Amino acid sequence: MRWQLFHGKNIDYLTIPEWSELGANLAFSLRDGGVSKAPYCSLNLALHVDDSPENVLQNRRIFLEELGCSFADCTAVSQVHGNKVIEVGEQDKGIGVRELDPNIPECDGMVTTSNIALLGFYADCVPLYFFEPQAKIVGLAHAGWKGSALNINQKILHKIQSLGGSLENCLVAIGPCIGPCCYEVGEEVATVFTKEARGSDLISKSGSDRYSLDLAGVNKSQLIREGICPEHIVQAPFCTACHKDLFYSYRREGSTGRMGAFIQKK
Ligand SMILES: [Zn+2]
Repeated sequence: MRWQLFHGKNIDYLTIPEWSELGANLAFSLRDGGVSKAPYCSLNLALHVDDSPENVLQNRRIFLEELGCSFADCTAVSQVHGNKVIEVGEQDKGIGVRELDPNIPECDGMVTTSNIALLGFYADCVPLYFFEPQAKIVGLAHAGWKGSALNINQKILHKIQSLGGSLENCLVAIGPCIGPCCYEVGEEVATVFTKEARGSDLISKSGSDRYSLDLAGVNKSQLIREGICPEHIVQAPFCTACHKDLFYSYRREGSTGRMGAFIQKK
């Protein structure tokens, strides 16, 4: 099982074909194929950056159409770098898709047993996709260093279990995020992960008081500790900051667009 580049009708995106065979479609968008202008060129999917909302909606339309999904079937919450996880369902369809709605719950993780499509937005932070094929539950989380420090994985896995899912069956996909090659942090952030990184190479010294942090690795290690089978975790082999032709990177560009993560039960 691995992430693969899929050439769609109008855009390319990353996906895991085996997940689709097991009953969940997932996708991670790339930066090409949209209508936004610099510095958001061109498939920026996030409304919370300073891009034209009309262009973002057109980009969302392009992305969702490729996935056979409409605005009315999705929800996108307002991500706040926390570890709150909510359950969404039929009643949430359409929320947060057309506008930055003040009624959107602020959270960084969603799970559902319904066929609502979950959307999240990323430029360096870790996209985490969850799928429990027996209990037919999907989830999506957003983990920057803060969400990782708060172990959003534990929260979302507890939520999946509370809905009848089992950790034994649960599949997790880690999408493209900033790699240790480009993610340098100061002592303050590195210290937060010292315990997590003990006996591993998740943190390494890169300067006098600078450290390179493997954020995807931290999340993977948390998932395994929570009980996810290592063979059930599929990590995308890309650093968002290294591949400027493919991805937006907040660390590299500052003011920039966001890729979209999508997951929906079939
Ligand atoms: Zn890199």
